[in-house]
Amino acid sequence: MDLQQLKQEYQNCQRCPVLCKSRTKVVFGSGNQNAKVLFIGEAPGKEEDRQGIPFCGMSGKVLEELLASISLTRDEVFITNTILCRPENNRNPAKDEVENCRQRLDTLIEILKPKVIVTIGNFATERILGKAGVTKLHGKVHALVFQQREIKVIPVIHPANLLYNGRNPELLQQMKDDFKVIQNVIEEKKAQKGLPEF
Ligand code: URA
Repeated sequence: MDLQQLKQEYQNCQRCPVLCKSRTKVVFGSGNQNAKVLFIGEAPGKEEDRQGIPFCGMSGKVLEELLASISLTRDEVFITNTILCRPENNRNPAKDEVENCRQRLDTLIEILKPKVIVTIGNFATERILGKAGVTKLHGKVHALVFQQREIKVIPVIHPANLLYNGRNPELLQQMKDDFKVIQNVIEEKKAQKGLPEF
């Protein structure tokens, strides 16, 4: 299966009876299909649901700023979410909704074969690492063996936290420091390969 086929399969997904009624669009993901870095957020928000693009609202602005701080753009990575459809009023995704979207995310990882996964916030971190508590886990590199391949997983604090905290400069610095960790891992991978790309 390729990315287009996977997208097609979920275009009119009915696995979550509540979400499929309230959503406007299934937000499959966007970015570079050959990206070796995959960002996984929580769930689409209002703007994402309207446009069908992950992180295209206020949180997305922060994410783009953090990416820019390590000289990356969103077109160089692939961005998706733990679940594809917006929970009404931005409530947390329910356990069964995360489970209903499990196969889709596993297949996405199988297709993209990322070397690095950045989990944004608690839900994505728990979904990928099976451990909760991004406050403790963020900014550290976790080695994950998935489908017989080693992937470096780096949890980061969700950009929405910065918005809730009035762009607290200390928090912003902490978030930038986490992105430096991502940059270092990418540089290490490139050096191992001796190539400008990895
Ligand atoms: N928050 C998320 O976790 N994902 C989005 O796509 C937008 C906001």
